[in-house]
This record gives sequence, structure tokens and C-alpha cells, in this order.
Amino acid sequence: MLLVAGALVGWLYDQALLGAFLAALACLGWQLFNLFRLDAWLRTGRLEALPDGSGVWPPVFARIEYMREKARRRRSRWRQLLRELRVSAGAFPDGGVLLNARFEIVNYNTAAERLLSLRKLRDRGQRIDNLLRHPDFVAFISAGDFSRSIELPAPAGGDTWISCFMIPYGLEQRLLLVRDITGIVRLERTRRDFVANASHELRTPLTVIAGYLDALADDPGAPGVWQAPLAEMRSQSVRMTHLLDDLLELSRLESAAPCGLDQVVDIGAMLQRARIEALALPEHPRVVEATIGSTAGLFGNQVELHSVVSNLVSNAVRYTPSEGSISISWNVDATGGHLAVADTGIGIADEDIPRVTERFFRTDRGRLRQAAGTGLGLAIVKHCLRRHDGELEIHSSPGNGSTFICHFPPHRVALT
Ligand code: ADP
Repeated sequence: MLLVAGALVGWLYDQALLGAFLAALACLGWQLFNLFRLDAWLRTGRLEALPDGSGVWPPVFARIEYMREKARRRRSRWRQLLRELRVSAGAFPDGGVLLNARFEIVNYNTAAERLLSLRKLRDRGQRIDNLLRHPDFVAFISAGDFSRSIELPAPAGGDTWISCFMIPYGLEQRLLLVRDITGIVRLERTRRDFVANASHELRTPLTVIAGYLDALADDPGAPGVWQAPLAEMRSQSVRMTHLLDDLLELSRLESAAPCGLDQVVDIGAMLQRARIEALALPEHPRVVEATIGSTAGLFGNQVELHSVVSNLVSNAVRYTPSEGSISISWNVDATGGHLAVADTGIGIADEDIPRVTERFFRTDRGRLRQAAGTGLGLAIVKHCLRRHDGELEIHSSPGNGSTFICHFPPHRVALT
């Protein structure tokens, strides 16, 4: 229309083309002017003085204003949500540290700041294992196996203990959950000390009683009717001594540091000896065989590894009828060393398998068959294995026998 109007005005002066050209120029100038204003508003972000414009411009300006207003409202909603999240994360009693794929700290809450002694300005962007330098934590991060939690003293020192659990989320991001477990650790320490002290204190009077019982049993002048009760009392005092020895052994294993790597134990020879010892036990199964698939040894403690083998083998003997069989084996592969004791005995019910390594846990069948056990053998095995970085795997089914496999990691295997 502007062009036509320009051409008409030009035509009145016999210059229709010039008129149209000047009108086109004015139109272009107007659009450029509005574009320039739009650019200025977008750059400064100040839209309060929204220009009126004309032609196509007012709806464009209005649309932009509407979109910016919507974005502003959305931003303030997010900000509010973030504030609420921060406040609720701050009220959380457990510490949470957000880590990126390189284990660098992205954010953390107040509890994490307190438990890990983090400083806002200094520690954001730092690798978590540069700040938490406990060897167990460094090994936990470098191993990358986050299926279990670890316990360690808090970096602030004192008597505070923390447990750390890593939860992967998003794209290679992780949430490190930190919990104050000082109370649990103290309780556990008190329990351990109590058991160790009580066992130690009970040992002396028991030795005296056992001594008098031996003397009475050997006394030719003792009345004949005393013999049966004396024999029962002696067997019970022997059982109590075993119980106290096992409790003391467990307390020692629980508080001792992991076994070093300076001694090599010949597992093949140990299993051959265990086979001979099993055949010397009363009511042993007819077949006891040992298969030594590797000459490799294990880095660890001879006495503790012997305790593992003898507990597993004596259980196999006690819970297998004499017509059954026992096989003991030692194999090494790329995943480490594997020591197995398998029997064709009474077996263990599925629901009892996770509990057999608990102290004093005895299955109903086990209780019926053997009153003499202390119920501590497998707990001792578990602790000895833990001190050798090993794990116990149990396969069993009632009536079909049981297999106990001790897995040791490759760094414990001493290849010859
Ligand atoms: P215990 O002195 O009672 O044998 P352990 O800790 O060695 O104590 O074993 C715990 C329980 O696990 C036993 O009471 C028994 O019920 C069960 N158990 C252990 N080894 C075997 C096995 N080879 N076959 C069947 N049951 C077993």
C-alpha cells in the first residue's frame, strides 16, 4: 500500500517510479529502526518501555514480552524449588555429597560439611579422595565396587566414625551418603570388650574346677556312684573351655588388623594334613579325598588358615554320615584362589544358609545331630577369611550335602 501510495504521489509529479522507490526506502528504514530497537531491548533485557511500533512489530514485541515473562516466572519457580530442596537437604541428618564422573565435588549438604570437614570455597571441584585420604576410602574409590558401604574414622579426628555409601545416578554422577555411626561403633566396641573380658575372667575359675574334677576322677578312693556325674562334669568343663577359647579367638580376630603379605602358607600340604586329621576323627565318613589343583600358596597367617580348614573339615565330618563322603580341594585361576570343602551330609535349609556364620546359630538339624559344637566355628571362619580379604560362599540343600568355598583375591595367591 505504501508503495502504491508513493507511486501515486510520484505520478502526480510525473515521477511514479521515484515515488515508489522513496516509499520503499522509507518502509525499509522503518523496519531497520524497529529491528535495531528490538536488538537493543533483547540485549539490555529492559522491556518495561515496550515500544508501540506499528505494522507487524506490535504482535512480535508482545509475543517476546509474553515469552520472557513466562521464562521469568518459570525461573523464579525453579529458584524457589531449589531453595526448598537446599533447606530440606540441610535438615537431613545424613551427609550427601554430589560427585561428577571424575569424583569431583559438585555440591554437598550441611551434614556432609560437618562430618567430612568440608569448606565451601576451598573444596568444591576437588576430588573427594584428595580430601578424604583414609587408605580404605582411597581403595574404595579406586576399586569402583560400590555395592557395599565402608566404615572409617571421620577426617575431623576425635572419636567420630562414619559409614560411606555411594549411589550412582544420572550420567556417571554419584551421590556419596555419609552417616555418623559413632554410637554403633561404641556399642560394638563395648560388646566386644565385654565378651573378651568375661571370657578371660571365666577361664581361671574354670581351669581350677577342671583341675579338681580331674583329681577327683583319678582318685581311687572316690565312690563308684560319683564316676558317671564326674565324667559328665568333666566333659561339660571341656566344652566350656572350648567355648571360652573360641570366644577369645573371635574377639582377637575382630579387633586385629588384616593379615600381612609377608608369610606364604602352603595350602596343598595343609589340606593333605586336614584329610589325615579328618580320617582320625571318630565316626568319620568312609571317603575323604583331597584334590590339590595348584601348587600356589596363600599370603597370610598359617594358624588362622589352619583354623579355617579345620573348622570346615570338622563340620563336614560331624554333619556327614559314615557312608557319605567329603572332598577337599584347592584351585587357582584368574579370579584368585578357591579352597572348597564339600560333603554329602545332612545339608542346610535355604533360609538358614545366610545365618550359619552368625555366632551361636545352629540349624535344627545341626542341633539334633551334634550337641558338642560351640556354634562359633563358622563365625571364626568368616572372620579369618575377612582378615585375608577372602569371602565364604555356601551351597547346600537338605539331604544333598553342603559345599563351603573360600575365595581369595589374586593378590593373596603366592604363585610358585
Ligand atoms: P557348630 O559348632 O554348631 O558346628 P558352626 O558355626 O561350625 O557351629 O556351624 C553352625 C551351624 O551350621 C551348625 O550348627 C550346623 O547346623 C550348620 N553346619 C555347619 N557346617 C555344616 C555342614 N557341613 N553340613 C550341615 N550343616 C552344617
